[in-house]
Amino acid sequence: MASIKELLLKTPTGMSKDDETLIRRAYDFSCKAHEGQKRYSEEPYFNHAFETAKILAEIGMSPTVISAGLLHDVIEDTDVTAEMLQEEFGTEISFLVDGVTKLGTLRFRGLTRHAESLRKLFVSSSKDIRVIIIKLADRLHNMRTLEYVPEHKQERIARETLEIYAPLSYRLGIRKLTKELEDLAFLYVYPKEAEKTKEFLHQKQKDNEDQLEKVYKLLKKKLAENGLRNAKTEFRTKGLYSLHKKLVRKDMNIESVHDLAALRVIVPTVEDCYKVLGIIHGTWRPLPGRVKDYIAFEKPNGYQSIHTDIFTGSGSTVEIQIRTEEMHQEAEYGVANHFAYKSDSKKGNNSNLLWLLQLLPRSFSREKKSSENWEKDIPEWVKKLNEYQEEEFGAEFLDNIKNDFVKHRIFVFTPKGEVVDLPIDSTPVDFAYTIHSDIGDKVSGAKVNGKMSSLSTTLKNGDRVEIVTNKNTKPNRKWLDFVKTTLAKKHIRASVESERRS
Ligand code: MN
Repeated sequence: MASIKELLLKTPTGMSKDDETLIRRAYDFSCKAHEGQKRYSEEPYFNHAFETAKILAEIGMSPTVISAGLLHDVIEDTDVTAEMLQEEFGTEISFLVDGVTKLGTLRFRGLTRHAESLRKLFVSSSKDIRVIIIKLADRLHNMRTLEYVPEHKQERIARETLEIYAPLSYRLGIRKLTKELEDLAFLYVYPKEAEKTKEFLHQKQKDNEDQLEKVYKLLKKKLAENGLRNAKTEFRTKGLYSLHKKLVRKDMNIESVHDLAALRVIVPTVEDCYKVLGIIHGTWRPLPGRVKDYIAFEKPNGYQSIHTDIFTGSGSTVEIQIRTEEMHQEAEYGVANHFAYKSDSKKGNNSNLLWLLQLLPRSFSREKKSSENWEKDIPEWVKKLNEYQEEEFGAEFLDNIKNDFVKHRIFVFTPKGEVVDLPIDSTPVDFAYTIHSDIGDKVSGAKVNGKMSSLSTTLKNGDRVEIVTNKNTKPNRKWLDFVKTTLAKKHIRASVESERRS
């Protein structure tokens, strides 16, 4: 049952009476708006809104985001308008719900080829990172109930999840959501591989379970003996899809996967972490060369923990991860952690995507000049990305970062609704050359959003661009003054040059 009590139990501690009232009001409003609507599963539609809000509460989101989660489908699926929401719940919530609704209208076609562009489009269309987080929670519940959706739709939805949503969640560092999104989608997109990976996992787990249990018990005992009574100990199993990817990389050899199951110790302070490492190495023999101190040397994405593999004494090995509660929150919730509800601070108010733009070293320095204020809102790990040197982390890593998120790019549409990815301040001429060099060479006019516009018009995100060609036109030298893409410059110069020669 979707009771308000169940939802309130999941909300972060320290909420005020007003916060609770807000969530109750959103609950009642959504429940009434969706009245009579049903899901494919025959459940009341409201359950979906409720479960979405519950996921948001579980990852520690603020009352505002939880309420927006409850209301996320009312604009799209009921008579409620954005104006009504604004009147009832204020600008922030109506802005978030409106953002989620608009994202829902994006069409993800030709997935594999355009996945990267589509992910960028997705991010740049959201305007506020909380919109993406709500959309991820929405998608997670849709994936949990995918079995009820007509079969011909299942694969498309699952593929979209695997190629757009899960990678976004991963890049945002929200491991908690990523794992479940990936594993649910995996079953529908690659059913055979999923089955095989499950078998691998079960086989290996059977071998390991007893030893894991033994290590777990002894570890708890040793921690208690050494006065670490505040230590939390837990199991962590590798996700099915992530195991599949690793197996593919390791030629399907399960023996070379060392982190299938791991034990995790969470303690209050960094000092405790090293104390725990000492206790572990004093009890079991560690595998040489497998100790990784990501506390002293954190990973580029900000991940912090100590990892060590130990011999269990019966031939097998177990990975143990040691971290503080704070590092754990960061590792599980990533970016979401920066917008998490903290009753004692105003953190999370500035959730603009601008700090994501600063992922690029060049844009970083540019933005810094224009607005010093943004800098303080950038999470530490994002700032650090700019400091890493290419030699240190490899070109591939940097490329990934450069390709991620928005950069200074815009996304415009062809009349058929295809997405074209261009540098900021691009013009219809750049657009034409990006489509095809013949179209660029013959461009005589352009319609932007249905209106005739000059060829030097600066295009904006979301513009629909239609090119008018004329077989007698030739590229004009003056175009060089306003085009932004190297491609357009190259073609215009070549054409002007050959014209001059003849
Ligand atoms: Mn929904």
